[in-house]
Amino acid sequence: MSDCIFCKIAKGEIPCNKIHEDSEMLAFNDIRPQAPVHVLLIPKKHIKSLLCLEEEDVALIGRLMFKARELAENLGCKDKGARFVINAGQHGGQTVDHLHIHILGGRSLGWPPG
Ligand code: 5GP
Ligand code: ZN
Repeated sequence: MSDCIFCKIAKGEIPCNKIHEDSEMLAFNDIRPQAPVHVLLIPKKHIKSLLCLEEEDVALIGRLMFKARELAENLGCKDKGARFVINAGQHGGQTVDHLHIHILGGRSLGWPPG
């Protein structure tokens, strides 16, 4: 989508601090980190939110989750744990309308969310 920030990051039109890239996904550091580890993992395909996921995307979301787990481990979060967050829609607190997984770690995180 032409006016989507994360599509622009995926195409290299907006710079990011890249952690991982392959043909179908990209991981980069969040611009406003909420924890020592705060990585965003996105599909290159524009999917508006988890609430807009189609059945054809099931394998892709599986690969994204597996990569999220792999990145968390590579970022040193396996022993003490991490949080994997997908905000969806207005009530979910989603501010960028391109599906993304937050990978948060490096400190103990509070619960429940506000
Ligand atoms: P959401 O609130 O939609 O779940 O998360 C969006 C995240 O994207 C926020 O944590 C925000 O800091 C991050 N973000 C927004 N714009 C940019 C950007 O241009 N670059 C990067 N690296 N992160 C961004
Ligand atoms: Zn997009």
